[in-house]
Amino acid sequence: MLYLSTRGHPDRKHFCEILLEGLAPDGGLYLPEHYPQVDAATLAKWRSLPYADLAFEILSLYIDDIPADDLRAICRKTYTEEVFGSREIVPLKKLEDGLYLEALSNGPTLAFKDMAMQLLGNLFEYELGRRGEELNILGATSGDTGSAAEYAMRGKKGVRVFMTSPNGRMSPFQQAQMFSLSDANIHNLAIEGVFDDCQDIVKAVSNDLAFKRKYRIGTVNSINWARLVAQVVYYFAGYFQATRRPDPSPPAAGEGELPKVSFSVPSGNFGNICAGHVARSMGLPIDRLVLATNENDVLDEFFRTGVYRVRGSQDTFETSSPSMDISKASNFERFVFDLLARDGARVRYLFAEELPAKGRFDLSGEVARARSQYGFVSGKSTHADRVATIRDTYQRFATMIDTHTADGLKVARSFASAGTPMIVLETALPIKFAATIVEALGREPDRPAKFAGIEDLPRRVTVLPADAAAVQQFIAAHCA
Ligand SMILES: *Cc1c(COP(=O)(O)O)cnc(C)c1O
Repeated sequence: MLYLSTRGHPDRKHFCEILLEGLAPDGGLYLPEHYPQVDAATLAKWRSLPYADLAFEILSLYIDDIPADDLRAICRKTYTEEVFGSREIVPLKKLEDGLYLEALSNGPTLAFKDMAMQLLGNLFEYELGRRGEELNILGATSGDTGSAAEYAMRGKKGVRVFMTSPNGRMSPFQQAQMFSLSDANIHNLAIEGVFDDCQDIVKAVSNDLAFKRKYRIGTVNSINWARLVAQVVYYFAGYFQATRRPDPSPPAAGEGELPKVSFSVPSGNFGNICAGHVARSMGLPIDRLVLATNENDVLDEFFRTGVYRVRGSQDTFETSSPSMDISKASNFERFVFDLLARDGARVRYLFAEELPAKGRFDLSGEVARARSQYGFVSGKSTHADRVATIRDTYQRFATMIDTHTADGLKVARSFASAGTPMIVLETALPIKFAATIVEALGREPDRPAKFAGIEDLPRRVTVLPADAAAVQQFIAAHCA
């Protein structure tokens, strides 16, 4: 399998070449040349596989430069009951007939980003070891990404992490999760500023090409294809669980079509749901992909109107589902590329010229096909919706959900369709966003035992001014 850029660059690359890279040389995102197709016989064969082996089967369709035995070993080392808390790895929980939650948040940092980041950590260690190279990961986080990256990279050979975050602005639990890590290769940098300042610093350091090369600076942000393909696996795993037949006998030959399911996905950067789009494009029988946003409704606006309009920082709201507080959706370009029949020149024009010049582009002529051909529908959820949904779910189903999952569930309900199971992706556990749980339920969320008292552990964090030079100095001093 070879990879190409969404902006039409002529180069084609193998998986391990793009693994450690961010953007393509022309500023586009990498996608496979085509989506491998799975048929009913393959689905039947995969249905009974343990999660790690399912991951291996799917990944091996996209990775041809890691020997099969090594790749299988990496998958089995990553997706264990010990790390993810259950044999199913992503267990399905039935709320009511036809409505399920798929638990993606029982990994080390209690958010779905662990699903991909844990694999990325093992892939990085493997590939860097094979090349005899080192990598210094520089990132910016407002919470979930940074902790997932640190827990995935801690103790890994050849990798250091320098993670910037806005000083004092993450939730107390998120701060404790990151700052209590004592691994020598993990460095927490609390920047005196806001999240945008952290992102600006990462950008400035990455644009200093001499520094970047000398210190081998890399990233782990959500545009990394390896993260995306890792996420494809749980769409298959969710499908298999929701369509499990009570009677284990195989369907008779010619017994009609495969059953379909729909997924509802709380979305900000379009990373998670883009993996659903890939799974559907591979032939997984997905009816609808329901995209749920919070008040930052860039994507809902697009799927309703065809207009993609990025927001300024004044129009980007701080909400109670903060991991979806985005001004633009960094993975969205991948879907636009497919929607425009993979016309790289047109994608380059839209994203490199029209968007920077006008802050928007208009695909109202094409967006109907996002629904009819690609199954997308969308909706928006507000703080009041989250609080009501958390309360209702707790009262009726004795199930506590987090604020992001609540956005997904709220929007899912408006697209329920009899006979098609709806799977809502649970993207974090409530303990990460305790304040809104208290507001909705008048009680603290449950805390998994392994996180008891983490706020009291010693902290390892360095406070730095919002200044790229200060961060560069810190990196240079810690790379010896
Ligand atoms: C990152 C995150 C999201 C948004 O996912 P995207 O794929 O970036 O849109 C939703 N919920 C939680 C809890 C997250 O951490």
